[in-house]
Amino acid sequence: MKTANNIIIVGGGIGGAATAVALHQAGLEPIVYERTSELREVGAGIALWANATHILKNLGLLSDALRVGYLITNYQFNSQSGKELVNVPVDSFELPVVGIHRAELHQLLWHHVEREKFVLGQTFLGFELEEQKVRAHFSSGLTVEGDALIGADGLRSRVRAALFGDQPPIYRHFKTWRGLTDYVPSKYPPGYIQEFLGRGKGFGFMMLGQGRMYWYAAATAPLAQLNAPIGRKQELETMFQDWFPSVPELITVTDEANILTTDLYDRVPTRPWSKQNITLLGDAAHPMLPTMGQGACTALEDAYVLAKCLKEQADPKVAFQQYESERFPRTKLIVEQSLRAGKMGELDHPVGVAVRNTFMKLMGSTISNSFKSLHAYRA
Ligand SMILES: Cc1cc2nc3c(=O)[nH]c(=O)nc-3n(C[C@H](O)[C@H](O)[C@H](O)COP(=O)(O)OP(=O)(O)OC[C@H]3O[C@@H](n4cnc5c(N)ncnc54)[C@H](O)[C@@H]3O)c2cc1C
Repeated sequence: MKTANNIIIVGGGIGGAATAVALHQAGLEPIVYERTSELREVGAGIALWANATHILKNLGLLSDALRVGYLITNYQFNSQSGKELVNVPVDSFELPVVGIHRAELHQLLWHHVEREKFVLGQTFLGFELEEQKVRAHFSSGLTVEGDALIGADGLRSRVRAALFGDQPPIYRHFKTWRGLTDYVPSKYPPGYIQEFLGRGKGFGFMMLGQGRMYWYAAATAPLAQLNAPIGRKQELETMFQDWFPSVPELITVTDEANILTTDLYDRVPTRPWSKQNITLLGDAAHPMLPTMGQGACTALEDAYVLAKCLKEQADPKVAFQQYESERFPRTKLIVEQSLRAGKMGELDHPVGVAVRNTFMKLMGSTISNSFKSLHAYRA
């Protein structure tokens, strides 16, 4: 059996780009086909927990990430008025936790693979399987042949639909807003991710590198709720006006143009992800709610494990089965945990919210341990 040298990756987001780096380092020949005509990521931040910085370290990218990112030490949950409910120290591992701008993480990954390995402006349409080969078709008319194909094309993956013809993802009744600003609230404790939980809504923020503050808000909402006519910023100012002062302050100082909205979806975890020499990765395989902040982190884990399996196994069919067996249980757990955390955030009745807050206070060490075990995983 010939080694799968030529590997087609569909989608050049964080998952696809990380896979290209990992495969390249494993001595394989990946080429990424991305539908957008320029490399870009949204103007928002993400937290890379120790399970993800472990992957960056193995790919030789951790010191670069630390150069552009910000060291996180604590994950603190508070009531909407600022009473601490739980304070999770996240700096007890051998690896750092980093708050990083998505575009900077993305660039870091791209820069570690030769430019010609990324083909932009190519929208994947479908594939054909032929003996040991897979042929991919793109809307431009381009057809390419490879030994294997990886669908890293996100939440609404066409590779997934072509493989399994499955259902659309599930809307989980949450809308999010994300913002970026240079303003640091005077009460911000350095190194912290601070989250504030209210009735059916929440707000959180953390520093990224170079003095930037990234904030996010979530609220229960019907599907595709239109932005309020008063605009995103004013809508948020109204929603969070009487919260802990840092929250309205951050909204007020952020330009409307720097506020993004996204509806939240996931899928019920199901197997298979792979068929012959085609597999899925990242949000294409296991989309999850962002409540545990693990979507991009698990995409990095996937990329590393997939490259390891393809390096060890000449036959991509066998390698993809190994990859799926290793990754499915871990990601299933996190998808389900993220959904449970989302349900806690849905609580709207004052009694339910009071019970939740008391529960969080009492269960502080259990909550801490649950984060710890998630972050302790080393792919
Ligand atoms: C509000 C919010 C906050 C989040 N916060 C965090 C966090 O703090 N930490 C964390 O780890 N995760 C976080 N996530 C999750 C994280 O953003 C995703 O899990 C991660 O970006 C998934 O990466 P991906 O590469 O699998 O998919 P994507 O980033 O969606 O990339 C898919 C790529 O495929 C391309 N593509 C799609 N279709 C085609 C096609 N037909 N042909 C060619 N190319 C195609 C797209 O253009 C895109 O570039 C958050 C998500 C949200 C919504």
